Amino acid sequence: MEMKGWNEFEIGTLLFPFSDEGSQNVEKHSDKREYRQDSSYTASVAHWRVEKPVYNNDHCINCFNCWLYCPDSAILARDDKLKGVDYVHCKGCGVCVDVCPTNPKSLLMFTDHIQEQDALAQWPAKETKKKGA
Ligand code: SF4
Ligand code: SF4
Repeated sequence: MEMKGWNEFEIGTLLFPFSDEGSQNVEKHSDKREYRQDSSYTASVAHWRVEKPVYNNDHCINCFNCWLYCPDSAILARDDKLKGVDYVHCKGCGVCVDVCPTNPKSLLMFTDHIQEQDALAQWPAKETKKKGA
């Protein structure tokens, strides 16, 4: 599949990812999905990334917020479970981390060069709410 650069599109262009319904693609890994010719998949901007989201399965409740809001279709899911991040397409925007509702979050941003096991070892503990705060 030919990859286009972000600057080959008109300003304001909307990039819809799939050639069929999104719900038909949620269970498929990225290499099995039906992408449109001009989409956020063919126009990968992963080289923008300086930080990456790391996924921690220990806290995830599989709410799919991150999958829904990711602008690059870079959240992978299968069998009703989150499976991680497609770093070929993730641009490191952090939207998935913002919308993750768990405590602690199940996705956190780390420098792009960190190894997954090192990121998981630094995961914060659950925050306790202070009374009256
Ligand atoms: S940081 Fe998260 S929301 Fe942003 S492109 Fe990567 S996976 Fe998608
Ligand atoms: S938003 Fe967080 S809790 Fe929900 S599926 Fe994504 S990683 Fe899991």
